[in-house]
Amino acid sequence: MKLLEEKIRTDGIAVNEDILKVDSFINHRVDPFLMQEMGREFAAHFSGQGITKVVTIESSGIAPALTTAIELGVPMVILKKQPSRVLNKNLAHTMVTSFTKGTSYELTLSTEQVNENDHVLIIDDFLANGEAATGALRLLRKVHATVAGLGVLIEKSFQPGRAKLNEQGVHVYALARISKMSENYIEFIPEEA
Ligand code: 5GP
Repeated sequence: MKLLEEKIRTDGIAVNEDILKVDSFINHRVDPFLMQEMGREFAAHFSGQGITKVVTIESSGIAPALTTAIELGVPMVILKKQPSRVLNKNLAHTMVTSFTKGTSYELTLSTEQVNENDHVLIIDDFLANGEAATGALRLLRKVHATVAGLGVLIEKSFQPGRAKLNEQGVHVYALARISKMSENYIEFIPEEA
C-alpha cells in the first residue's frame, strides 16, 4: 500500500537492521486517517469470506483492527495480556514471546467472545518472527474458531514470520513488506500486481 510505504519512508525510523520505530503514526501517536485507509484495504482484500469477527492483540493492533471491523460490519475482539480473572471466568490462555521486549507474556481470550461459530480475521501491527500471531492462532484453535487469515500493517520479510504462518496454512496479507533496512535506508518488496 503506497500510502503506508510513503509514511514509513518519511516518518519511520530504522533503529537498527531489525527494529523499525513507528511511534509517530502507529505505536504511540496514531494517524486516524491512515488507520481508516488501512482498514478499507484489509476489508477489500478479505471481503466475501464470511468473516464474523476481527481479532487483534492489545495494544497496537487495536486501531487498524477497529477500522477493519467497521468496514466489514463485524465486531472486534481484543486478545488481552492482563485479563481480569474476576471478570472473565472462561478464559483460554497461551504464552507468547515478545520480539521487541525479549520477554514472555500470557495472552488470553474469553470463550464468551469467540467460539466455534466464528470465522476470524486476525489483524496486528507488525509481523516479525510470527510468535504473536501463532499465539493468537493457538487461542483461536482452543475456542474452535476458524481463521480466514492474518492482516498486518508491516511485515519484516527478512524475518521468518510469514513462512511460519504459511506452514500452518494461514494466508498472510501485509500492507507494507520490508525486505531490508538500516539507518536512513528502507527497501520494500514491490506490491503484487
Ligand atoms: P513477532 O511475534 O511476529 O515476532 O512480533 C510481533 C510483535 O512484536 C508485533 O505485534 C509488534 O508489537 C512487535 N514488533 C516486532 N517487530 C517490531 C518492530 O520492528 N517495531 C515495532 N515497533 N514493533 C515490533
